[in-house]
Amino acid sequence: MKSIVFISSLSSQKQLLWLENIKAQLPDERVLLPEQISDSQVSNIDIAIVANPDPKILIRFTNLVWIQSLWAGVEKLVSELPNDQIKLVRLIDPQLGKAMAESVLAWTLYLQRNMPEYAKQQTNNQWQQLPSINSKELRVSVLGAGELGIAALTALKKLDYQVNCWSRSPKQLKGVTNYVGYAELTTLLTKTDILINLLPLTPQTHHLLNKALLNELPQGAKLINFSRGAVIDTTALLQLLDNGHIAHAVLDVFEQEPLKETDPIWRNANITVLPHISAQTSMDSAIAIVSHNINEYRNNHIMPTHVDMKLGY
Ligand code: NAP
Repeated sequence: MKSIVFISSLSSQKQLLWLENIKAQLPDERVLLPEQISDSQVSNIDIAIVANPDPKILIRFTNLVWIQSLWAGVEKLVSELPNDQIKLVRLIDPQLGKAMAESVLAWTLYLQRNMPEYAKQQTNNQWQQLPSINSKELRVSVLGAGELGIAALTALKKLDYQVNCWSRSPKQLKGVTNYVGYAELTTLLTKTDILINLLPLTPQTHHLLNKALLNELPQGAKLINFSRGAVIDTTALLQLLDNGHIAHAVLDVFEQEPLKETDPIWRNANITVLPHISAQTSMDSAIAIVSHNINEYRNNHIMPTHVDMKLGY
């Protein structure tokens, strides 16, 4: 009988909780931890469910057909996959889209309604009313129009922002202006008051937002990074925050995580730091989706949608 291995770098308590819940949803499957699988049983494992797996453990399972990630971002797995025959399936979960849409709205409103400035004023006992901008006048641009990008764009549109997005292939989204490909990125940036990054980290997007491109944003623009730290050249961003070209950045993701205690970013008054929480995996809905994928594969031989290894997402 084919079996499933669950490989994670979660704490043993969290790992056990996930394992118990996965087993409960997949009563006909044998789901095992790597240490429960002997060398003679390794060849029976055809599916791995993973959450930040150690590549040294993953490589032991030489007969894997596909890997189901419990997270949506898989750039590390893309670079660590033991061989190019294995299909990589990332988590696609509407609940994750909802969580991301809520975060995008919360932090867009935070920037729109000058909350960082009012927080600074309060520490100085300063009573000063700043001009407020109507959402209809605010140009909000989302980089990436995938699962999370579309959820965010839909939520932003409901609040009447002027909404733009950028993607690799053309999109038709009601009320959203879509810019496509590298050639149109500069045009989009010049028309942006709040820039929201929801691009996956790939060789094409690594440090995509460099000094030259960030400089295309209008003076005083604001930025939210909710996908991956390395899509933005952090050194360039810090320079543009220092010289005031970018007024404020909300950063949930960093080139190195967790952010070191000594990192000056913590004390930068023009940066709001979040600890990678904009869209957290929900155990219940993730396991329901993973179980559905596994049942479809076992019963109907349907492979779930998987990552295009050439594109890296
Ligand atoms: P997705 O469905 O794969 O969408 C990716 C979008 O980016 C697509 O619209 C794609 O264009 C576009 N894109 C990719 N490469 C591009 C390029 N070179 N030029 C232009 N557009 C490009 O991904 P998702 O589910 O929305 O997730 C996005 C990222 O969010 C994940 O990769 C992960 O890193 C991050 N994330 C963060 C958190 C958190 O808590 N901070 C939680 C979950 C996920 P096409 O549509 O044309 O393919």
